[in-house]
Amino acid sequence: MGIEPRAGILDIRPYKPGAAEAPGIADPVKLSSNENALGCSPKAAAAFEASAKRLHLYPDGGATKLREAIAREEGLEAENIVCGCGSDELLQLLGRAYLDPGDKVVQSQYGFLVYRLVAMQSGAELVSAPERNYTTDVDALIEAAGDDAKIVFLANPNNPTGTYISDAEVRRLRDALPSSTLLVVDAAYAEFVRNADYSAGLELARERDDVVVTRTFSKIHGLAGARLGWAYGNKSIIDVLHRVRGPFNVNLPAIEAGTAAIADRDFMKRSADHNEEWVAWLRQQIGGLGLEVTPSVCNFVLIHFPETPGRTARDADAFLTSKGLIIRPVEPYGLPNALRATVGKAAENRRLVDGLAEFMGG
Ligand code: PMP
Repeated sequence: MGIEPRAGILDIRPYKPGAAEAPGIADPVKLSSNENALGCSPKAAAAFEASAKRLHLYPDGGATKLREAIAREEGLEAENIVCGCGSDELLQLLGRAYLDPGDKVVQSQYGFLVYRLVAMQSGAELVSAPERNYTTDVDALIEAAGDDAKIVFLANPNNPTGTYISDAEVRRLRDALPSSTLLVVDAAYAEFVRNADYSAGLELARERDDVVVTRTFSKIHGLAGARLGWAYGNKSIIDVLHRVRGPFNVNLPAIEAGTAAIADRDFMKRSADHNEEWVAWLRQQIGGLGLEVTPSVCNFVLIHFPETPGRTARDADAFLTSKGLIIRPVEPYGLPNALRATVGKAAENRRLVDGLAEFMGG
């Protein structure tokens, strides 16, 4: 039986990450978690290793050095930044600080799964606004939010769809929401996006006290294992997050790795270049097999499968796994007929397309 937790906690299904193994296959290709195909910056890895000499020491709880490095590289103010154990933690801290049981939280239909987790952890009610063409529909979000949403979570671009909305659309959303609604712009994949009408929302967050932007080191910087993210916003929001974070929420090796990573613009550019090339290639090749691929600005593609028996997403997932190709079922997002595949190294991408071709031809 055990001791009862707070109401609603037992309704939460623990977050299930993408699979890391294919049964019976020693060296599978893992394209299930949107990790960086190129690994991480060698400078970040070296800084991480060098930090081993200081592992007996507590880190700087405020991660000052890292915040200053982010501020320098991104043209921001260090005091308007807070770091977290992954951007997941920052999303959770926002829930912890701002949500009461019964509050309304709004997301777009295929929003990142952690938003649901955050809402449920606080006993808040999650409302999902319908999307159009697997893309956030600002009018639907505005309608769902009404005048009483406490938080609107906007993943821009979004996972698992890979689509984005323009800076003008984000601003239109913000202008339409009441000032009592906090807009959280989750820009985990921002550095991959090269479209001129896109912005991660940092400027908007600088202008206002009701917008906060979250970012991660897990994607372009390839530091998913180090668990590192940051949030930027008005001092009134950042001060709140400092109050509710753990005293040493970012560990010492992560601070060192992150400080080196954010300064390695060359590695970031190589990652974005690789991604641009291979996202286009995957879309073209997979499209050529007769499968629909949602246009993506991220480091993954959403592949849609028919409902024909033997050809479904579930069938494809089982077939690919048997070939040592691990990609991500997105049924938990409400997309039972699709699979999400991360951009890998050249040879991995070719193997994926070969596997899909065999599946479709078989
Ligand atoms: N937001 C989005 C949209 C994501 O896809 C992810 C990673 N899957 C995150 C946030 C969280 O990333 P992390 O906690 O690794 O920083």
